[in-house]
Amino acid sequence: MAIILNGARIRDEIKAELVPRVQKLTQTLGRAPGLSVILAGSNAASQIYVAGKTRAARDVGIYSETLTPPESVTTEELLAMVDALNAQPEIDGILVQLPLPAQVDEASVLMRVSPAKDVDGFHPCNVGMLSTGRPGPRPCTPAGIIQLLKRHGIPMSGRRATVVGRSSIVGKPMSMLLVAEDATVTTAHSRTVDLPAVCREADILVAAMGRPAMLTREYIKPGATVIDVGMNRITSRDAAERIYRHDAARLQQFDAKGSVLVGDVDPLAMAEVAGAYTPVPGGVGPLTIAMLMVNTVEAAERKAI
Ligand code: NDP
Repeated sequence: MAIILNGARIRDEIKAELVPRVQKLTQTLGRAPGLSVILAGSNAASQIYVAGKTRAARDVGIYSETLTPPESVTTEELLAMVDALNAQPEIDGILVQLPLPAQVDEASVLMRVSPAKDVDGFHPCNVGMLSTGRPGPRPCTPAGIIQLLKRHGIPMSGRRATVVGRSSIVGKPMSMLLVAEDATVTTAHSRTVDLPAVCREADILVAAMGRPAMLTREYIKPGATVIDVGMNRITSRDAAERIYRHDAARLQQFDAKGSVLVGDVDPLAMAEVAGAYTPVPGGVGPLTIAMLMVNTVEAAERKAI
């Protein structure tokens, strides 16, 4: 019987550990650590994510504010907004919620965030810190996965890991963090030849492609730990029936809402073949926001010492 890796429990643990650190910082700095989120436009999913971030900040005692420029905002206006936040001493962390409206030069806006306040860990300076093993903010989703593995006692040192996906947000930093934990890592992507065989080599398989239920049983080594990062909302009843053929409750959810959330790994294959796995939802998702809180607290701690 596979072990289900419970992201919500680890999130709660991480948040609880932050509370005394935030209290100490609040005494030292004479103010709470501060996080500013730029939420441009009216993307519904982004609004939900930002609401979750605001709630988590409140839970641990971080001051948070959300700036909401309109959909029509220009690159120059966003750059000016980032400059102002960079200069504001009571703001320790700046998060630019992606995606930005189409007319905005996303890369320049992200580059403008001061590396010291870059709580997403996306700034090239911080990517360099990660790749050279120096301290600095780590991208939240892969950092959360490392916490999930460590806190469930899953060994990484010397193990074979395959990461499917090479984005700057998930796949690449995930591979670098696993290397830092002494795993032997393969980074796979859309041009990888014989992906099932590459995945079957893995003791730890991380799926981050954004392809609903793509990794089926022939991709999973029996007993492997499978981390499913994918968050895909599907609206086809046929696809839902195929993927959740074993799960009447999910199909009922689909019928009630007209859509359902699916990871990148076939859920039944994962439950039957893996030794341990993250469910979707409730696996990786909850950790991303918790790690954003960790990065904000650590940015403030670096100022306090
Ligand atoms: P991107 O679209 O930026 O990257 C996808 C990667 O997957 C690319 O490297 C791509 O390869 C690879 N890929 C795509 N199709 C295939 C295929 N058929 N075979 C092998 N590799 C493939 O996605 P992200 O990294 O931003 O996100 C990945 C998933 O994780 C999404 O479902 C997203 O919603 C989810 N996510 C979840 C988070 C959470 O908190 N749980 C946070 C962030 C993301 P190539 O480079 O060759 O094109």
